[in-house]
Amino acid sequence: MDIQSVGVVGAGQMGSGIAHVFAVAGYDVLMTDISRESLANAGAVIEANLGRQLARGKIDEATRDAALKRISTTMTLSDLGKTDLIIEAATERETVKVAIFEDLVPHLKPETILTSNTSSISITRLASRTDRPEKFMGFHFMNPVPVMQLVELIRGIATDDETYKALKEVVEKLGKTAASAEDFPAFIVNRILMPMINEAVYTLYEGVGSVSSIDSAMKLGTNHPMGPLELADFIGLDTCLAIMNVLHDGLADTKYRPCPLLTKYVEAGWLGRKTQRGFYDYRGETPVPTR
Ligand code: NAD
Repeated sequence: MDIQSVGVVGAGQMGSGIAHVFAVAGYDVLMTDISRESLANAGAVIEANLGRQLARGKIDEATRDAALKRISTTMTLSDLGKTDLIIEAATERETVKVAIFEDLVPHLKPETILTSNTSSISITRLASRTDRPEKFMGFHFMNPVPVMQLVELIRGIATDDETYKALKEVVEKLGKTAASAEDFPAFIVNRILMPMINEAVYTLYEGVGSVSSIDSAMKLGTNHPMGPLELADFIGLDTCLAIMNVLHDGLADTKYRPCPLLTKYVEAGWLGRKTQRGFYDYRGETPVPTR
């Protein structure tokens, strides 16, 4: 299976990072989004991040210029049908993802591999809504994609060996490391990480600590580079809540109950860095705790 071109659906935080690393690794990238603003913003973010890598000596000028030339955008989802590999990185909602795959299927080449960057939704269930469950996999990048080394590879019940091997090779070509996870809610990283973040929100909700004391306790007490609330803002509180709901529904255990305070922040539209407010307020020079 020779993969040369990649289609990315969703040009948010993850989609733009994914487009960035594939373009640097030499793949042609076609990116789409329902929001024209997201697509324009992704272009600017990729350019700025490539510039940062250049300034730090991680890439040279020729690599940056070639990467920028390899990325193109479209507002028409079906244009992605001509690519060899599709990575869906749209909003973490199953109805959104299912609609994308159903719309894409009639336009695909027979050999195209379909993947989702979902943090938690069942790969087997998403695959079953396509015409090629054997060529469907979970392809879970970490945020920020250009920096983080890990990619989780999740096989659905029907995924064939050829597809798994093809994606493993792609991960190597990106210079990253793959970890295989079985298709159970939230896979490995988020199965462990999200309950910790949710517990940090409960710790705040119950008044055990303030935003600053919880984050500094976890940074200095457990050697985590970021506190859990800072990290939640970075990931996006809507994404964190969506993952807790998947764990709660999928594993039917009350220990995964999303904290009501997390729900309240999401209801307020305080989704973290991407909306400039979450557990911290990012509108000024330095982040200020909101509680
Ligand atoms: P985001 O909100 O930054 O971006 C989502 C993008 O999808 C938006 O630009 C939105 O306009 C677009 N979109 C929504 N519906 C669409 C549709 N029908 N067609 C095309 N585009 C559509 O979210 P994100 O943080 O980039 O997350 C995207 C995916 O990546 C989610 O599945 C999430 O679980 C997963 N993920 C997120 C992280 C993280 O740390 N944020 C890490 C790993 C995986």
